[in-house]
Amino acid sequence: MARTVLKFGGTSVADLDRISHVADVVAARARDGGGLAVVVSAMSGETNKLVGYAQEAAGEGVTGAAFNDEYDVVVSSGEQVTSGLLALALRKRGLKARSWLGWQLALKTTNTHGSARITGFQGEGFAASVDAGEIAVIAGFQGVTDEARVATLGRGGSDTSAVAVAAALEAKSCDIYTDVDGVYTTDPRIVSKAQRIPAISYEEMLEMASLGAKVLQTRSVELAMNHRVPIRVLSSFHEPGSDMDNVGTLVCDEEHIVEKQVVSGIAYSRDEAKVTLFGVADTPGMASRIFSLLAAAKVNVDMIVQANARGPDRANMVFTCTDRDSRLAEEALHQAQAELGYEAIEVKTDVAKVSIIGVGMKSHTGVAETMFRALYEKGINIDVISTSEIKISILIEAAYTELAVRALHTAFDLDAD
Ligand code: ASP
Ligand code: MG
Repeated sequence: MARTVLKFGGTSVADLDRISHVADVVAARARDGGGLAVVVSAMSGETNKLVGYAQEAAGEGVTGAAFNDEYDVVVSSGEQVTSGLLALALRKRGLKARSWLGWQLALKTTNTHGSARITGFQGEGFAASVDAGEIAVIAGFQGVTDEARVATLGRGGSDTSAVAVAAALEAKSCDIYTDVDGVYTTDPRIVSKAQRIPAISYEEMLEMASLGAKVLQTRSVELAMNHRVPIRVLSSFHEPGSDMDNVGTLVCDEEHIVEKQVVSGIAYSRDEAKVTLFGVADTPGMASRIFSLLAAAKVNVDMIVQANARGPDRANMVFTCTDRDSRLAEEALHQAQAELGYEAIEVKTDVAKVSIIGVGMKSHTGVAETMFRALYEKGINIDVISTSEIKISILIEAAYTELAVRALHTAFDLDAD
């Protein structure tokens, strides 16, 4: 039997009116036939509120492992509420529906509370219930550990719940309903000519998500790619049955995309910092020592550049990370200055990363040239560059972020007419 998974985010279930609208959307989808599983987030703002409660109750003294497991119990409760409410709203419409919590599905996770990973799924009775025509309304974001404790999947994790359920049910599609009608070429708040992308490959979406496009949790895209689950990003704000109802963005295998762009999207992030170590000894093992120190300090390093310094046998080491991590990095490196023997350290937080993403880069030349020329024409100085097969990222002064994104959007023919 054909099964479909639908997922509704926080703004789509923000209050009883929105939940009632979602019930109409689900009811319309139920008329298409086939089994339906619906994953819900907490009402928007609810998870933040619960996070605040947990932090306040714990105070300064209760941290780490002693905090995280009970944090999960508290913050996962928002999804329990919406799953029950939506099940009721569906029953009100004469549909068969029931709620499912993470432990009832046996959506098993690791015990890394607060950011658990899904390890497996024991949903047999569950699939049978879906096939029997009972709409499954699933509390997203939560699972259960081998120790029978509740665990959550990290912020934005109900996207990942939805994809996991879709994979387990071998669903034909995982439809993620949100408050925008798809994935855009870039942030429409800064580029008014940004366009909805009709179809995008998993690889590109993975880059877009990890580079700051907030529509989907990065892990959900990873999971979808591994299990070949097609994702559709749709708006829950249209009337069911209206023209716009089925228009969104399809996230799928590259080979299913007919019209390929060289560059599909532009992402940016202002939460970046650049750390420079001047005058590092140019000897084997130095990079290893610096980066193992950073790893121990839990600094997530992004771009890395090493260049010869002027003095003999000296190099400058540059890396980027988030603003928050740069503080950890500075502290750790400061303490180790004598041991590492570098001359000086500089931390700049007024930097931003702008990236162009596209599978077309694999087969087109001149992409970097177009990018750098567009920036040069606007007088924007490029600080650090990093590339992968389908992405070029640059670090620039934060004040130029919007200008850079707009210039690149135009240069790669992404502007809507
Ligand atoms: N409610 C959770 C959060 O706000 C999970 C989600 O919405 O995906 O992060
Ligand atoms: Mg979300």
